[in-house]
Amino acid sequence: MTRQASWVESANSATHPFPLNNLPYGVFSRNGDDPVCGVAIGDMVLDLSVLEAENLIPTTEDGPVFDLPFLNEFMELGQEAWAELRARLSDLLAEGGDGALSGNPDLIERALVPMEDVTMHMPFVVAEYTDFYAGKQHAINVGTMFRGAENALPPNWLHIPIGYNGRASSVVVSGTDLHRPLGQLKPPHEEVPHFGPSRRMDIELELGAVVGTGSILGEPITTSGADEMIFGYVLLNDWSSRDIQGWEYQPLGPFQGKAFGTSISPWVVTKAALEPFRCETPPREKELLPYLQESKPGLYDIELEVTMQPEGADRATTICRTNYNRMYYSAAQQLTHHAVGGCEMTTGDLLGSGTISGPEKTEFGSLLEQSWGGKEPFTLDTGEERTFIEDFDRLTLKGQAKGDGYTIGFGECTGRILPAVQEPDWSK
Ligand code: MN
Repeated sequence: MTRQASWVESANSATHPFPLNNLPYGVFSRNGDDPVCGVAIGDMVLDLSVLEAENLIPTTEDGPVFDLPFLNEFMELGQEAWAELRARLSDLLAEGGDGALSGNPDLIERALVPMEDVTMHMPFVVAEYTDFYAGKQHAINVGTMFRGAENALPPNWLHIPIGYNGRASSVVVSGTDLHRPLGQLKPPHEEVPHFGPSRRMDIELELGAVVGTGSILGEPITTSGADEMIFGYVLLNDWSSRDIQGWEYQPLGPFQGKAFGTSISPWVVTKAALEPFRCETPPREKELLPYLQESKPGLYDIELEVTMQPEGADRATTICRTNYNRMYYSAAQQLTHHAVGGCEMTTGDLLGSGTISGPEKTEFGSLLEQSWGGKEPFTLDTGEERTFIEDFDRLTLKGQAKGDGYTIGFGECTGRILPAVQEPDWSK
């Protein structure tokens, strides 16, 4: 696969995140108008509701699917509809392709909007959010800190993609700032818990898989069926309060330590755009049960980066560079495991990959690992030291797959941690 040329000039650079090969979907608004669905091409956003109204793209009998503030209606149509629209958009935007858009200046004026003029919104309604723990290096690092090197990996880890049910209500789009959560804290040296703002605020670098078509209550799915259900991927920051989590997590896992917010990038990069970057999961250390074995490579070669920028700092510091190909389990395996007992998976289900960490410290995808449990502060390019997140620090995830003369970019997933809100008068 090489770069596909577009008449939208800005899309033709080898390093631009949104070439014709990509065509990620998102929801945007301009000039205070209602949000609608669009696709990114170079420095522009193509308004799909305009093309739909002009009958220039495939339409459904049930009415418009793009003149809506979410992608769910389109996601629900399934992979044939996804492929059909991708082919049509590629033709409309290709250099020398169908001239229905490129040859119509009035339509271009209405349908192509400079990205700098739009506001991005949540790309889809998150039906439910499940977070996994499928990065082996992360599991080993955290396990070593909490239980010692001998017991780092729990006995089930090499057999099950471990996960927990998270909150869909607090999934927010990139650019949304979050308050430092209040909660119960019990540092090791204290006898009883106290109440207050979290002091150990962290990120988790993850990729989110977006479920397009659902499954049926009571019916398991195969890994290849699961792969077909996935619409695309987003960057996902699973913000984590380590002190709240550390006190609450046994025996049922994360709860308040994760419930206050999860950020995702605004553009959903489709499985089709990522197809040339598919790669195998690492060699199995224990043979997986047949229901979890994959018939095709389930991971992708996606370079990932995390930057941190304190308020007032003139530049951001890269604190982590790693790759999605580090994961032990794929999203298809996680989805298969999720449904195997009969749990219905639905359009808009969001699956967090689990923290992505590689073997070197420069590849650790959380501050918990970067500062080794807060014991080893690290230094930013500005000279400031950090163990966990301070108020107004900006954390940004970036991702890209590098092809032959082109880039499939995810854009950014960014947000700041604001001071905790004022405590209510608890006696009232
Ligand atoms: Mn997580």
